[in-house]
Formats: sequence, structure tokens, C-alpha cells
Amino acid sequence: MAGKIRITEKFKTIQGEGPLLGRPSYFIRVWGCNLHCSWCDSKHSWEFGMKEAKLETVDSLVEDILRLYDETNIRNIVFTGGEPMLFKDKIAEVIGKVNDSLPGILIPMNFTIESNGEIIPENDEFFMSNVLFSLSPKAPSADAGSTFNVNTTQEWVERGPAFYLKFVLDKEEDKEFIESVSGPVVKELVFVMPEGLTTQEVLSKSDAVVEYCISKGFTFTPREHINIWNDEKKK
Ligand code: SF4
Repeated sequence: MAGKIRITEKFKTIQGEGPLLGRPSYFIRVWGCNLHCSWCDSKHSWEFGMKEAKLETVDSLVEDILRLYDETNIRNIVFTGGEPMLFKDKIAEVIGKVNDSLPGILIPMNFTIESNGEIIPENDEFFMSNVLFSLSPKAPSADAGSTFNVNTTQEWVERGPAFYLKFVLDKEEDKEFIESVSGPVVKELVFVMPEGLTTQEVLSKSDAVVEYCISKGFTFTPREHINIWNDEKKK
């Protein structure tokens, strides 16, 4: 496995959450996670499905992304999981090689890295202007084994990569966690969404999350991929 990234799936879709909602994107879902959230909607990327996952080299992923750049209008690559930062060195290499192959162009390929935030980046490539981290810290109620707290957020701020925070609001006690952990970040960059694995679940909880966002100045984000495709995978 050394030198390769274990990939659960790759697919074209739109970004369904957060500030880039609706943006045509190419999702690259790695296999493996350092947490185990009770309500995880991607268990095929860590709890099972390892046999179906494929090992890919950095060069093969770079070729794939450059082909996508030439043949489509997709300009956003989303590394998701699982936890992409388990492969941080390889992903940094992919970003570096893609950037080197597309020098000086007006609209570069952008990269979003969806992470639980436990592994803080060091590689130079993660500090480029076309890289954005979507951090989703896990509240204690997720029973995930997370150690994320306000000091972790502060460390992200001081380290300096571009990021926003995205929380799943599941239980009432999650609010205290969200408010504490998001302290060092401007409220507009704090996105909150309802927990749910199906369209019906997400929609039924949305009203309460909207009210919460209004009261705190946070930004509500829907989960459009669930609203549109329910619990279908590869969407
Ligand atoms: S961190 Fe993300 S991928 Fe990992 S178990 Fe939690 S929700 Fe699932």
C-alpha cells in the first residue's frame, strides 16, 4: 500500500453542502477513517467495502484529474472519505503535480478537502490559494472517539490553511460543542446542517436547525445530495 491511496469510489456530482453548494465537482472518496461516528453516512468508506476499494498511485490520480480538466467543465475536486488526511502526503503530491501541470491559468482546478479536522496539515501544497478545507468536527454525541476541541480550532487558525467549519446538529447537547469549538472562527464560516440519512429525516429536522442558525448567526446548509438522491450512493 505504500505510495498509494486506497480509493472507495470516484464520481461526478454537485457539492451538496456548505459554501460551494451546487458546484459541479469530482468526488474522490478514500477508504479508511480514524473516527467511527454512530450516524456516519459513508460507512462503506471505513467499516466495510475495503475489498472493493482500489489502490491508486499519485500519478494515476493526477492523470485522471488532468483528463477531467481537459474533457469537462468541472473545476472542483473533492477529497472525501473516510478521512482523506490519513493520506495527506499523497494528496499533497497530487495537488502539487496538478498545479504544476496547469501553470498560470485563469481558472485553476480547485481542491476541497473534507476532513474531521483531527489531522492538521503541514505540507506546503495545502496552503495554496486553490485549496479549501471543509472541517467537520464531531460532537461527543457522535460517539466517534474524537478529541477535537476549541484548542484544535485555534491550531487550525494559527497554522493558516483556508477552512470553514461544518457541523451536523444531531442532539440538543451538540449545541454546546458547536458554540465552544467554533469560538475562534467568524460566524459566517460556521455551517450547521441537520443529521439524517434520508430525505425525509433531513427535511423533518431542517426547521429546527434553521431556527438555531438564526439565533446564533451561523449559516444553515442543506444536504442537497440527500434531498435529491435520498440515500443513494455515488451521488
Ligand atoms: S469522520 Fe466522517 S467518515 Fe469518519 S466516521 Fe465520522 S462521519 Fe464517517
